[in-house]
Formats: sequence, structure tokens, C-alpha cells
Amino acid sequence: MSQWQQDPILDRGEGRRSEPGWATDAWQHPRAQVLGVDADGHVSADEDGLRWVAAEGACDPQRHFMLGLWADRPIFITPIAHGDRSLRELLPVLDEDELQLAFGAVGLAGWHAAAGFCPACGTVTTVVHAGHARRCPGCGREDYPRTDPAVIVAITDSEARLLLGRQPSWPSTRYSVLAGFVETGESLEQTVRREVGEEVGVRLGAVDYLGSQPWPFPRSLMVAFHAHAVTTQLTPAPGEIETAAWFSRDDLRSALADGSVTLPPSRSIARRMIQAWLEDTLGVEAVG
Ligand SMILES: [Zn+2]
Repeated sequence: MSQWQQDPILDRGEGRRSEPGWATDAWQHPRAQVLGVDADGHVSADEDGLRWVAAEGACDPQRHFMLGLWADRPIFITPIAHGDRSLRELLPVLDEDELQLAFGAVGLAGWHAAAGFCPACGTVTTVVHAGHARRCPGCGREDYPRTDPAVIVAITDSEARLLLGRQPSWPSTRYSVLAGFVETGESLEQTVRREVGEEVGVRLGAVDYLGSQPWPFPRSLMVAFHAHAVTTQLTPAPGEIETAAWFSRDDLRSALADGSVTLPPSRSIARRMIQAWLEDTLGVEAVG
């Protein structure tokens, strides 16, 4: 079972965070702690992981956002000018609990950094609900942190080969499964079929859900699927897919061994999907 299948570790106080004293009282808790996050998603960190500091002074609801309670310890984030390390850099370092907290922290901070003005009337917005919403004093509109769904798909053919491709902007040996953002009015399964058609020209049969993973770069939710290819001819879309190819398990193991192919980071759902396919457990065990 992946960590994203487990119970959430954070009590986000959905029923209490609109109460005026919830966050300001929690700030006074002797074990309350704060993590700095900058607008680019870089966090306060050192070699060992996230660098929390004790909550000190007065709570300022406009810049101290209460992520929630972690084992009854109040957890806050606050905007800073420059963080030490990006979340991507920290992926191999953080333990499972820290990873959940960091994903929530970076996602929430990124939304605040981009939500300073009301999208309806342009007025400067005010933080409410302990940092989980912003309200416009001009027109009364409330906005909440957004998540952009994206699909990611492991496509196999009748010979049990896996389709991997690479985007032009990636490191020269990086290959991965295909992915793309959901467009308005689409189901997730339709997104899978459209993206795969656009990117490599392959038609798909059954499309089955595998799992999901938050991916706050800056605010995605990756929703993973396994799909069977009905056609196998590959026509990579210029500018989007530089190369695409079908790999047998032996092909991929050889390419990984000689360094001609490298895979996405180990904590990513893409890597877990490819690893599950290599181990012939894709669809047997949830990924995420
Ligand atoms: Zn407004």
C-alpha cells in the first residue's frame, strides 16, 4: 500500500477553522511549530529535512496559516522571501509524514502567493479561516485553494510492453509514462484518451484507475491509470513528445543498466507505476 492510501496524518480542522480563536489559540501551544515557504515552493530546510521553528510572538492571521494539527501539534506555515530547498530536491530525504506535511505546506503557500487579488473585482483579498480561504472585502467573494487534476497513464500492448516517452525539456535520458492536464468538461478517462491520441496517436481500449498522488508543482493532483493499447504505431506530437517507444521489461532493464534511460524521481507516482510494471504488479497493488 502506498502512503497516499493511508489515513491522512493531518487534522485540518475543517469544522473549527472558521472560529476566530482556533488558529490564534493554537499558536500559543507550547509545541506549535512553523515552516517557512517561499512563493516558488522552496522551504526552510537543511540536510536532514524540513527546518521547523517554534511559534513565537503574536499570531498574525494574515501571514500565519494553520495547516492543521499533526498528532495534536499545531502546524503553521508562513511566507518567506527565500526558502533553502525545493520540494523536488527534498523528495528523497523526507520521511513519509514529513512528505505529507511538505506537500500540504507548499500547495497552500503557493495558492496564497498567487491569490492576493480578487479574480472578480481586483481588490486585495484578506486571509480567513485560519489560512484556508481568502475573502474579498470589495465584493464579498471567497476563494479556496485550488487543485488542478492531471492524468498519468501506463499504456501496455498485447505483448506486455510499456509505452514510455520523453518531453524535449527533460534531461536527455529521462523517459516516463505519458501525462496531461484535464480540460474543462472532460472526464478523467476522456482526458487519458485525448492526451494519448494527441501525444502519440495511439488508440486505447480499457482505461482503469490505479491511484493518485498530490503533486504541488504548483498545484496538481496526479490521477493514475492503466490503459491497454488498441493500436501501437507511434506518432509523437512535435514539440510535445521528442521520442516515444515500446519497451519490454528486458529492454528497460538493459537501458537502465547501461544508463541510456533514466526514470522520474523515486517518490513520484510515475516512477512507482513504471516500477510496478517492471515487477508485474501494475493494477494488483495501488500506486501513489
Ligand atoms: Zn472582489
